[in-house]
Amino acid sequence: MSGVPITIARSRAELGAAAPAAALPAEAPAASPADATGAAAVDAVTAPAAAPTAVDAPLTDTLNRPLHDLRLSVTDRCNFRCVYCMPKEVFGKDFAFMPRDDMLSFEEMTRLARISVAHGVEKIRLTGGEPLLRKGLEELIGMLAALRTPAGRPIDIALTTNGSALAVKAQALKDAGLKRVTVSLDSLDDATFRTMNDVNFPVGRVLAGLDAAHAVGLGPIKINMVVKRGQNDHDIVNMARHFKGTPYILRFIEFMDVGTSNGWDMNAVLPSSEVRDRIHAELPLEEVAPNYSGETSRRWRYLDGGGEIGLISSVTQSFCHSCSRARVSTDGKLFTCLFASEGHDLRALLRDGSSDEQLSAAMGSIWRQRTDRASQLRSAQTGAVRSSGRKKIEMSYIGG
Ligand code: SAM
Ligand code: SF4
Ligand code: SF4
Repeated sequence: MSGVPITIARSRAELGAAAPAAALPAEAPAASPADATGAAAVDAVTAPAAAPTAVDAPLTDTLNRPLHDLRLSVTDRCNFRCVYCMPKEVFGKDFAFMPRDDMLSFEEMTRLARISVAHGVEKIRLTGGEPLLRKGLEELIGMLAALRTPAGRPIDIALTTNGSALAVKAQALKDAGLKRVTVSLDSLDDATFRTMNDVNFPVGRVLAGLDAAHAVGLGPIKINMVVKRGQNDHDIVNMARHFKGTPYILRFIEFMDVGTSNGWDMNAVLPSSEVRDRIHAELPLEEVAPNYSGETSRRWRYLDGGGEIGLISSVTQSFCHSCSRARVSTDGKLFTCLFASEGHDLRALLRDGSSDEQLSAAMGSIWRQRTDRASQLRSAQTGAVRSSGRKKIEMSYIGG
C-alpha cells in the first residue's frame, strides 16, 4: 500500500498516541465562571450517579459550539485490520496495545460521562478499537443508561461496531440499555469485504449481526461505508440498492486522513458528490433537511419513497462550524478534535483524588478554550489536515 511508513511502529507511543498529554489549563482546578456558584459541584462521594447537577451556564467553546456529544473509546484493540484504519503493516502481531492498567475502568468512564452530562452532553457513543472486544461492556452500558440530563431525560447511548460479534451480543446489549448501533460495512461483495478488513472476515457474519440487532430493536440502525477509490467504490450502487427500502440507513464516508499510518492519499478519496451522482443516476435522489443543526451527515432520500442515505463529506466539506463532539480515549485523554496531536490527561485527575468539582472545572475550561477547526483549515492542494510535522492520533485510539 502506498505511503505506509517503512518503519513498523510497535506501540501506540511510536504512533504518537501516547504523546505527553497537553497540560490542563492553568485555571482548571479553580472555580470557573460556570462553576463559581458551586452549582456544578458534584461531590464524588455523595452525589447520586444518575442525577448530575447542571452547570448554570451553557458550556460553549471559542466558536460558540456547545458540548453535546461524547465519544468514549473503550478499547484500542480490534479484531479487524481495516486497510484505512489499522493497516497490518503497522498494527502487526508485535504491536504493543495499551496496558490494562492504563485503561479507564467503567466507574472512571461513568464518572467522566456524568460530569460531561452536567456540562450539556446528551449523546454518548461507545467506540474504539472494536468496543465489543471490551469485556463486560454491558455493565458500562447499564451504568451510562442510569444517567439523566439535568432536565431529567435519559442519555442517547449508541455504539459503533464492526458487527463481528453483534449476532451473539445484540440481545445482551439491548437488555443493558443500549439504544442503537451503527455498523461499519464497507462492501457486500465478500471478496472485497475480506480484503478491506484484511483478516478474511466474511461479510455474511456482519449481515447476521445486523439482522440480530434489528430483531432486538437496536435501532434506527445506521451502516457506515468508508469509500476508498479503487477498493470498494464499485460496490456503492449495489450497497444502495441492497439497503433501499429497509430499516437501515446507509451512510457513505469519505476516506479521511486521520492518523499517520493508513497511507492516506487524496487520490483515494471519492468525494461524496460523486457517490451521490453514481447512485442518483440509477436510483433518483433529492436532498432532505438535516434532522438537527450540526448533523455531520447530509441526508438524501429516494424519490420513489425507498428511504434515505447519508453522505459524510469529512474531507470535501468540513462541518467544523457545528462540531460539538468531545472524545475520550481508553486511557482517559480528552480530545477536542479528531486531528488533535495531544489530549488532556483526565485520568491523572481521576486517580489523584481530585473532586468531581475539580474535574468538572477542568473539562469546562478545556472546552471553553477550544479553537479546533482542522477540517476547515485543510490544505487546498492535498485536502489533508496540516499537522505541522507533529504526529496525528490514530482513529483506532481516539475512537471514530
Ligand atoms: N471498530 C468500530 C467500527 O469499525 O465500527 C468502531 C471504531 S472505528 C475507528 C469507527 C468508525 O471510523 C468506523 O465507521 C470506521 O469505518 C471509521 N473510520 C476508520 N478509519 C477511517 C478513515 N480513515 N476514514 C474514514 N472513516 C474511518
Ligand atoms: Fe477496527 Fe473499526 Fe478500525 Fe476497522 S475501522 S480496524 S473495525 S477499529
Ligand atoms: Fe470537529 Fe475537528 Fe472534525 Fe472539525 S476537524 S469536525 S473540529 S473533529
